Formats: sequence, C-alpha cells, structure tokens
Amino acid sequence: MWKAWAERLAEQVKVLGCGDPDVISAIREIPRHRFIEVLREGAEEGDRRALEQAYGDFPFPIGFGQTVSQPSMVARMTHLLSVRSGIRVLEVGSGCGYQCAVLGRMGCVVTGVERIGRLVDWSRRVLGELGLSVEVVHGDGLDPSLGLGRFPRVLISAACSKEDVERAFGGLLSDPGILVAPVDVGGGMQRVLVVNLEGGERGERWEDLCRFVPLVGGLAKD
Ligand code: SAH
Repeated sequence: MWKAWAERLAEQVKVLGCGDPDVISAIREIPRHRFIEVLREGAEEGDRRALEQAYGDFPFPIGFGQTVSQPSMVARMTHLLSVRSGIRVLEVGSGCGYQCAVLGRMGCVVTGVERIGRLVDWSRRVLGELGLSVEVVHGDGLDPSLGLGRFPRVLISAACSKEDVERAFGGLLSDPGILVAPVDVGGGMQRVLVVNLEGGERGERWEDLCRFVPLVGGLAKD
C-alpha cells in the first residue's frame, strides 16, 4: 500500500519543481512511514490513514521536539548536493534517518551524525531493516573531536548560523567539495546556502527560503 502513497509523493515533489530523476526514484522507493516511530508503533497493523500521513509533503514530528524534513525540501537539498553513486556524504542532524536513506538509495556512502541518542538507535534500526548501509554516529556533528575526517559532500539538516557553516567548511569539507546548509536569515526562517569548493576557490550561492529545527551544540541528555 505504501508504494502507491510514495509514488504519489514522488509525483508531487516533481510537480513542485524537482526535476532530478534519481532523487525522484529514491523518494518513490523509500517507505517514509517506517522512519516515523509514533506512526509505526501505533498503526503498523491497522490504521492505514495514520500511516498515509507520512506521505504528505510536510515535516512530521519524530519525537524529542524534532521533525523529519518536508519531502520536497529533502529532494531540493539532495539535488543541490549534486551527488552521484559512490560519493561519500556527511549529514549533520540525521534525525530519524530519512534523508540518509534517500542518499543511500542513490548509491552514496552516507555517514549521519545525530546528537539525540534515541534517534541514533532508531535510525540505525530502520536503515538496517531496509538494507541500507548508512553509518550513524552519535555526536555533535560540528565537534572536531569526533574525528570524522573530511567529506566531498556535507549536508547540514538543522538551522545554523554562518559561523556554523564556517566550522563545517573548515573541518569537514574536502576540496573539491559541496556543502549545503539552511542558514538563519532572521524571523525564524533560513535560506539554503550552497558552498562550492574547488582548487581552493570558494563559490557561494543562496537558494530557497526554508524552515528547519535549530542546530544545537553538544549531546542531548537522554
Ligand atoms: N534529516 C533528518 C531530520 C532533521 S531534524 C531526517 O531525515 O529525519 C534536525 C536534526 O538535527 C534533529 O534530529 C536534531 O536532534 C539534530 N541536531 C541538531 N543539532 C545537532 C548537532 N549539533 N549535531 C548533530 N545533530 C544535531
């Protein structure tokens, strides 16, 4: 049943402007309801209407005051990252793991970092069940002592400041590399910033307005 819902969601994301066929296929193939613990625990068996909510184009609460991002925004960020199969991607703020799953389905070698321990456990379980080889690290994604190394693609999935972007740029992005992040622009809104590094030359461009939950320093106390 979820396949028809995911198909409809993929079509909707396409109509909303994502013309990247690889991203659209990944959205079509990932069972988003399985990443949302509250829906799954309550309704796996019976309540189909509850599960169907996971396939609407809106953010959805995943507990701990966090949300899984809106599918059209996941698609947009994924497209802006310009990934290809085999490329290593770091996602800071991997939450329930849906964005990691989309990247993993596209063949990326994904590392997610998440500061809330229970979301780490949950996302590892769901990604494992789906057979996606995504590594999820428990930590503050911008803490250099994590020793994650550098990645050719870095996606920050929580609202951050320009200083946070500089920290990620300085410590996590390899050259050549692309970093995508929602950067606070005031009024509770962010704008997606794309930073392109090549041969030491840095290019920046600003894209869509968006709204993400905030990046927070340190580990969450479970
Ligand atoms: N991409 C996720 C949703 C992102 S919500 C998904 O597909 O579900 C943002 C997530 O960032 C939240 O789960 C939050 O706990 C996490 N987060 C916030 N600050 C962080 C930090 N400094 N390091 C790691 N994770 C962080």
